[in-house]
Amino acid sequence: MHAEGRGPQGRAVPRPRLSGLTGEFYGWLHRHELRFQRCRGCARYRHVPRELCPHCASDTWDWARSAGRGTVFTWTTTYRALHPAFVEVPFTQVVVELEEGPRVISSVEGIGEDELQIGMPVEVFFDDVDDELTLARFRPAS
Ligand SMILES: [Zn+2]
Repeated sequence: MHAEGRGPQGRAVPRPRLSGLTGEFYGWLHRHELRFQRCRGCARYRHVPRELCPHCASDTWDWARSAGRGTVFTWTTTYRALHPAFVEVPFTQVVVELEEGPRVISSVEGIGEDELQIGMPVEVFFDDVDDELTLARFRPAS
């Protein structure tokens, strides 16, 4: 489920619901910290946020800070708008695999799709969308 918000050009855009474990994840992003749940049972990281570890079923975990470094795992480019909020095409969504293991869907800013490479090192930066929402985006590692 998504709440509605306003994006660039004032169009309604889907937003993450900032409650529960998802709200906690975005709360860390708002503080400019990328954190993932790390299981106290098996020490593995997981994403998206959930109550139980998918590896050992433990229900104990901590929000462990990520170094924010990873690599491009894959990407896809959208050429035809399928949602009224995302009519500015093409745009590219990238799956980044963090050093700690979790994969996130985001974007790599500052380069074109033709410059993306699988395995390319990237680092996180924090995009303050508004007073409530911050997104984790990536750029080529310096
Ligand atoms: Zn576990």
